[in-house]
Amino acid sequence: MGLVSLLQKNIESKVKAAIGTGDSRLMSVVGKIASHPGIAERVYGEGEVFLFKSALFMTGVRLDESAFDGVGTRFKEDLGQRHYDPDARRSRTRPVPHGILMPHGLFLPLTIEDRSPFLLKRDAGQLYLYLDELRLFPVDYEPRPGWYSRDTSTGIPMRHVGVHRLRRQVLFEFNAYCKFFSDKTPCLFCGIISDRPLLPRRYKDHFSASPLEIAEVVEAAYGEGLATEMQVTGGVLPGQVELDYFLEVGRAMQERLGTKTIRGSQAVLAPPPKIEDIDALKEAGWEGVAFNAEIFDAKLWPGMVPGKAGLMTQEKWLASLEHAARVFGKGNAASVLVAGLEPMKSHLAGVEWMAERGIFGVPIPFSPAASSALEGFQTPTAAWHLSATAKVLDIWERHGLDADRHSSAGLHYADLARMRAHVQHDRREQPDRDWGNDLRWQLSVEGKLPET
Ligand code: SF4
Repeated sequence: MGLVSLLQKNIESKVKAAIGTGDSRLMSVVGKIASHPGIAERVYGEGEVFLFKSALFMTGVRLDESAFDGVGTRFKEDLGQRHYDPDARRSRTRPVPHGILMPHGLFLPLTIEDRSPFLLKRDAGQLYLYLDELRLFPVDYEPRPGWYSRDTSTGIPMRHVGVHRLRRQVLFEFNAYCKFFSDKTPCLFCGIISDRPLLPRRYKDHFSASPLEIAEVVEAAYGEGLATEMQVTGGVLPGQVELDYFLEVGRAMQERLGTKTIRGSQAVLAPPPKIEDIDALKEAGWEGVAFNAEIFDAKLWPGMVPGKAGLMTQEKWLASLEHAARVFGKGNAASVLVAGLEPMKSHLAGVEWMAERGIFGVPIPFSPAASSALEGFQTPTAAWHLSATAKVLDIWERHGLDADRHSSAGLHYADLARMRAHVQHDRREQPDRDWGNDLRWQLSVEGKLPET
């Protein structure tokens, strides 16, 4: 074995030992990539950085003292927003960063994990991602939104009303409660109720913010240019009274922003009992809706989402989505389809069924939430998710649905779609090259992890 190979082997085994846990195939690939000699000088490609992002998602990251500099003043702090934030419930004694901007336009919300082999540390002022002692590449934090330092006209800090996430979104959670928990029929994967103490009820018994407060924060966030989309979400309430709230919020935004349709707005709720109320949501200014069916397989549906199945049949849920697609237009109706809770075949059948009707079936990987019935379970392997996501992108492409959609910034499927566009562009420029060996091609087009 030559000196270079020997060095490479040593670093590789050190990296694998440091990572230790998680998806063994993914970690093996990441260890291999990180173990190339000349690591400090190496400029990682889009495929490599995507794999580091995947590994970071699974292992979390440690923070060197220097990584706290400016967090909560110059840089955005994590406010415990729950959606797509596995770190939401962690107690904080001082501000911690919400996410990192990585090379090639990749972004990741952070999980702070003191045992992680990954470390964030500043050298001469520049923030870097380290793997054990190996400096991988420079990263950055997002700037702190200006509205995080402002109050509503009612004197409430705006950051307690709406938080910035997914690079360009202001998110409003109207509560962290769902009646299905009281009914003992929550969706098996859902842990929303454990967040309840974070959100005091301040409006009409159930809601954490008034419609006017939401409208003011949207105006501030859009005005700053840091947000181009907004979302309101929360649990299902007795009598589905959240529907009236969505109508009130829509009208408050129409009035405040002086526009009939609120650009980039999405209401996330269960389908209203009366189908014509979907039209009322449109009238109230919403640009799109998400009715999250979660599961497509008709037999698994009542078992996985028993509260939803008690509210209405799956047939009616899907008919509501179809109606929403007609009312709001192609690409403006969506439903999460949790990836990894049903066979890939029925998951993809759901994505296809929806895409045929201009609806996004959004593949959000199953992640076992604390306090959920599936706490402690494991999601399928990275290889499974990669394969499923590449097939979802194929389906969307066939039906003219753009993966760069509402709530997609920073998510794996949008990363892979962008990577696919880049490698397809390069392939057109160099048609004679063997593209089967290109990591970006393997990941985003073939949906495969490379061989180790
Ligand atoms: S409807 Fe299901 S996923 Fe939504 S908050 Fe209730 S239990 Fe959770």
